[in-house]
Amino acid sequence: MGRIRKLFDKYFCSPPRCIFCGDEKCTADFPVCKSCYENYKARSSEGCADCGAAPIDCNCVSVRHCAQYYRLFNYEHRSVCLMIIKLKRKINRFAFRFFASRLVAMIEAKTLGTLSFDCVTFVPRDIKGRRLHGFDQGEELAKCIGKLLGVPAVSFLLNNGQGGEQKRLSRNFRGIAAMARFEVNGKKLVGGKIPYKKVLLVDDIVTTGASMGECARILKDHGVKLVIGASVAHTPVRGRAVF
Ligand SMILES: [Zn+2]
Ligand SMILES: [Zn+2]
Repeated sequence: MGRIRKLFDKYFCSPPRCIFCGDEKCTADFPVCKSCYENYKARSSEGCADCGAAPIDCNCVSVRHCAQYYRLFNYEHRSVCLMIIKLKRKINRFAFRFFASRLVAMIEAKTLGTLSFDCVTFVPRDIKGRRLHGFDQGEELAKCIGKLLGVPAVSFLLNNGQGGEQKRLSRNFRGIAAMARFEVNGKKLVGGKIPYKKVLLVDDIVTTGASMGECARILKDHGVKLVIGASVAHTPVRGRAVF
C-alpha cells in the first residue's frame, strides 16, 4: 500500500507531501508544512559570512561576467545541506517549483520588478552526474523558472566532464578546470549566436563561482548582453567574495 501511495503521490500529486520532511500533507501551491516553513524562513535569513546580512539584503557576493548574482541561502546550516542534497538526488517537481518561485520572487524584490529576461539557461552537469541521478537539477530549476517567467528554458551550455572533478580541486584550479569543462551548445545557436540578449543563468549551488562565471563568459562570447546569475545556495567563503 505504501508503495502505491508513493506512486500515486508521485504521478498525481494531490495533495503532495511536504518537500522537506515528507510527512504532512500540503497544497501544490505551497508544498511545505508549517514547521518546515519556519525552519526555511530562519535558514533563508541566515547572514552572509562577509557582511552578516541575509541573502536578500546582501550585495557583496558577485560572480564574474554576471551583472548580478542572487541566492536563497548561505550553504552552511545542516538543514540547508540536507535540503539541497534532496534536490540533487531525487526529482521532486514540487520542490523544484517551490525553489523556482522563491528565486523569482527574490529577483523581483531585489530589482523592484524592473528586470525582464529573454530566456533562462543553466550550468549543466556532466554526463556522469546526469547518468547517476537521471536528471540535471540545474535544468529542472531552469524549466520551472522559465514557466514562471513565461520565457523559454534553453540548454545553451554543455559540460564535457573534462578538467577533473570540481569538488576535488582547490579554489585556484577551479577557474582553469571550468574553462576546460564548459562549452557552448552549438545546436542551439542561430547563425553562430545565442538569439537572446538578457539571460538568467541558474544553478543549484554556487561554491567559488568558477563554473557559473565561466558559463556566463561563454554566453556573453556568443552575443548575450546581460547575464544574471541565480542559485538556491551559496557556500560562503572567507573575505570579500569576488570571483
Ligand atoms: Zn515538513
Ligand atoms: Zn554579504
